[in-house]
Parts: sequence; structure tokens; C-alpha cells
Amino acid sequence: MTVKEVTDILEDLAPLSYAESFDNVGLLVGNPSTKVTGILVTLDTLENVVDEAIENKCNLIVSFHPIIFGGLKKLTGKSYVERVVIKAIKNDIAIYSMHTALDNVTQGVNGKICDVLGIKNPQILIPQKESIKKLTTYVPIKDADALRDALFDAGAGNIGNYSNCSFNTNGKGSYKAGENANPTMGEIGKTHYEEETQLSVTFSKAYQAKIMKVLFSSHPYEEVAYEVITLENTDQNIGMGMVGRLQNPIDEINFLNEVKKKMGSEGIRHSKLLGKKIMKVAVLGGSGAFAIEAAMASGADVLITSDIKYHEFYKAEGKMIIADIGHYESEQFTKNLLVDYLTKKIPNFAIRLSESKTNPIKYL
Ligand SMILES: [Zn+2]
Repeated sequence: MTVKEVTDILEDLAPLSYAESFDNVGLLVGNPSTKVTGILVTLDTLENVVDEAIENKCNLIVSFHPIIFGGLKKLTGKSYVERVVIKAIKNDIAIYSMHTALDNVTQGVNGKICDVLGIKNPQILIPQKESIKKLTTYVPIKDADALRDALFDAGAGNIGNYSNCSFNTNGKGSYKAGENANPTMGEIGKTHYEEETQLSVTFSKAYQAKIMKVLFSSHPYEEVAYEVITLENTDQNIGMGMVGRLQNPIDEINFLNEVKKKMGSEGIRHSKLLGKKIMKVAVLGGSGAFAIEAAMASGADVLITSDIKYHEFYKAEGKMIIADIGHYESEQFTKNLLVDYLTKKIPNFAIRLSESKTNPIKYL
């Protein structure tokens, strides 16, 4: 398999177009056409992780966090980032990062935390904006069925549990072909009227490139009239954080102790306890202060996240518990999630869960 073939499989799980705009995801180092000898899955790509890849003949590192985040202007080996990149290039090792693309899918970082904590029927906490597009095009009535089916096959027309959703209305289109045109119907220099179907479908932005390709290849006209717009509607399957319920209500101290044990936290920093049972739980792996308001609005009894600052703990307002379980701890099972996923998709392939320690935070 090539690097591209493996990363295409990872894109099926977490399309890169779902990543946040500030992020740096995808293939950061390496060539997509390189043959993969083995895959090493890690949370962070540090030098010891590249060493582990070399030792185990893995020439593709699948990393949750991107090692190159801001601009990289020099490669002199002065910083740990530069040393990692230099070592990877010298040893022909590719690095692919998923980060917020994997944060924003239901089977990603937060779905995994929900699995580990036994949270049932979790829903996305903050659905991503501008993730749904709508295509409208105009096609001769006799060609509408074929075009519609081709668009469905490319991923258009899915709304919740429904597929093949479209809206169609027939009317009369007009055009006059110019001197250099090669019209499928009508004549050059004469206004032509054609019975057409106005066909509308919605689709997730992850499919946009594929859908545009299909539109142009399946539409009979030389010049395709179409509009693509971004909708305000949100997709309940794409977004940050998740919220769901426990099987049974549990005392808050017992719950936090259980979280500590299951997530391997060395210490949980939390806002004041409220003396009530925990039933509804919001989770957001990684830095989650931005989700405090959404978690409170969802009616969660507790938000499990990390990187909460002093003043941010006040935002709980005595209505919810904010629990900071540690950044690494909150995301660590993402490695297992990726190894399980890849093993299922490409069995009999060398896929390795990194054993290198990458958490930069130590506890006394
Ligand atoms: Zn993180």
C-alpha cells in the first residue's frame, strides 16, 4: 500500500475538510506515493517516536497532533520540531496528522472518551457551522434521472437517516450559443429553449470535490449552469465535543474517581462540587474551555475536558462541574481508536501502537 492509500482510509474516518481552519492536518512530511512498510500510531510525533518508527521499520507515522503547526521557516535542528522533521526526512518517514478532523467526527476523539466512560447515546455538543452545501443545477428533463443518480452515488442527498434526497421542478431554460461554442442542443447564434429540470441536492463539504467532478462529467451540456451555496444548517454528525447520559445516576465524587481511574489521570482539577448526582456528561478531549457555555446549555452535570485556566473554573456558576483531567489523558485513547480502525480496514498489515511517552506534563 502507498501512503496515499492508507491516508485515504483515514480520511474515510475523518475527512480533512472537517478540521478547524487554524489547524494543520494531513500529510506533513513525506511523499504520497511511497510504499508503506509499517504504520506507527502516536498522539505526538517527538524524536523518540521517530526513533521507535525507525526501530520497527514503520515509515508512516500517524499522529493525532501535528508536529508542524505554525510556520516552519528554518530547518537547522535548533528546536524539537525542526529535529523531528529533519530526522523523519533523513529516514524516509512520512508523518500524517489528523487532529481536529478527528475531533469533529462522532467516531473520533470524543466518541472514544464516551465509550471509555460508559456514556450512552452521545450527541455532538457544538455542531460545526458551514459544513453543509447545497447544489442547484439545470439539466434537460430526459437527462435528470442519470445526473441525479450520479450525484447520489458521489455522496449527495443524505439527510440524517435518509438518502437520495433531492428537489426537482421542471421549467423552461434558455440560452444562445456563441461563435466558439459547441452546444449539445440548439444552434449557434439562435436563442434556444429547452425543457429542463431544476435539481437541488445538499451534501457534506467533505464530498464537494467529488460532487463537482461528477456534475461536470455527468451533465450533458458543454457549459453547466449551477450554484453551490453554504447553508446555515448544522450537521448533527460533525462538530466538537459530545454529550450523553450515564446508565445510572452516580454520586459526583464517585464519578470523578471513576473518571480518574478509567482515563489514567494523575489528578483532576475541578470546580466546586454541587452535592447532586451526575447523570448527563459532556466531554471534550484536549483544550475545552471554549465548550463550557455549550456544555452548560446542554444541561450537562459535568464537563470532562482539559487546559482549564483559573478564571475559567468560575464559569461553572455553581450549575455544572468543570473537570480538567489533563490534556494527554483526555486524548490518549485516540491512539487505540486509530489502531483498531486501521487494523479492521487493513488486517495483516504492520500497525503499531506507539509505546513512546509523549506527555510533557509531569506530576509530583
Ligand atoms: Zn490535543
